Amino acid sequence: MLLFVAEVGQHSSHKNNHVRQIARDKQWLYPQYHDSQHIKIKRPDELEQEMKDPPENIDKSILDRIQGSMLGMALGDTLGAPVEFEPPEYLTVNPVTDLQEGGTWGLKKGQFTDDTSMALCLATSLIARQDFVLYDQLVRYKWWLQNGYMSSTEKCFDIGMAICDSLLEFKRRQKVFAAKYQIPFEQMDFLADFDLLKMFDVYCSNDGAAGNGALMRLAPVPLFFYRQPTLAVEYSGRSGRITHGDQKAYDACRYYGALIVATLHGESKNDILNENFYHNHKSWFDNKPLHKDIEMISTGSFKKRGGLKEGIQGIDFIVKSLEAALWAFWSDENSFEKGALSAVNLGNNTDTTAAIYGQLAGAHYTYQNLPKKWLNHLYAQNFMLCLSKWITYEGSIWNSKYESGVTKKQ
Ligand SMILES: [Mg+2]
Repeated sequence: MLLFVAEVGQHSSHKNNHVRQIARDKQWLYPQYHDSQHIKIKRPDELEQEMKDPPENIDKSILDRIQGSMLGMALGDTLGAPVEFEPPEYLTVNPVTDLQEGGTWGLKKGQFTDDTSMALCLATSLIARQDFVLYDQLVRYKWWLQNGYMSSTEKCFDIGMAICDSLLEFKRRQKVFAAKYQIPFEQMDFLADFDLLKMFDVYCSNDGAAGNGALMRLAPVPLFFYRQPTLAVEYSGRSGRITHGDQKAYDACRYYGALIVATLHGESKNDILNENFYHNHKSWFDNKPLHKDIEMISTGSFKKRGGLKEGIQGIDFIVKSLEAALWAFWSDENSFEKGALSAVNLGNNTDTTAAIYGQLAGAHYTYQNLPKKWLNHLYAQNFMLCLSKWITYEGSIWNSKYESGVTKKQ
């Protein structure tokens, strides 16, 4: 039986408890500090000392793919970080060939950036809530922005504009909501009352926000919900939409989520990159069409031998970013190392293109086949390996509850 540490609040107009309870044996799912003033946060590599493995045997072959996806993403992120924003002209002359330190953010070799930090926030949310709760995902992104939660450096040192705007809007809505329902603001991050949560509008972005920030953190959603493909695809779209309101972002996440789900179901690279993928999996998309820009990618626009010369670009726009990551996967000659380097050397959003590539390629090639020489330097590797076990375990528990009707479709 789990023990709880959070004080459980009551509200005059709501008889149900509305504050989330924290399991004492999983405090690593919440911000922990070295000091009582909450100034120095514990980094993921410090939290890993508190973690224990899930209690049951888990499917090793699925775990290998889930760990491959999570660590593949982090490897792509750290590989590209030192040259983020460098133009393709620079990288054509000075290509990245290995992990490096310094550069754009002055990080140590193997440290990751916003892409992986946000994905870790998303993964901890799914595990902590044992379900898909968009409100809680936003809370954790806010913790990252404000307190450096899940950062490799104790601070949020890089954030995209659309995400920053959405998180500030989220915080504003939390204040309005707290006042309206007379909830102490400090309890707002732990809201658990389902009826209250339903009344909170979590879509904090607008049409036109179509940056790749929605896609760079996606992996935990399809990895957790892959056993129910239609739901996994819809949740993939919604996970992006809370910070990127454009239809293109929603559909890019749905399509890429479906590719990761297909990989976990053992589909081949040819099947995944097939121009008929959407039609072959139409029910996964709930028969809803893809935006025409995403449909073009799904029918093979990324299959360009000339890469950069034929218009493949590693830029912020989610449509181009998705296309670039798939181009890297398609042309990697079955080598994660080659694909990740190709993604980085497109320039501009180097870390994000490679992080998106790594989510799918890592799931396909599996953790066992990721380059050891890079894994040896990867920051907080044990945290991410254990977190992946919890994604596998809690995803399986969620699915059992869903199939027995205990957990309802949201
Ligand atoms: Mg980044």
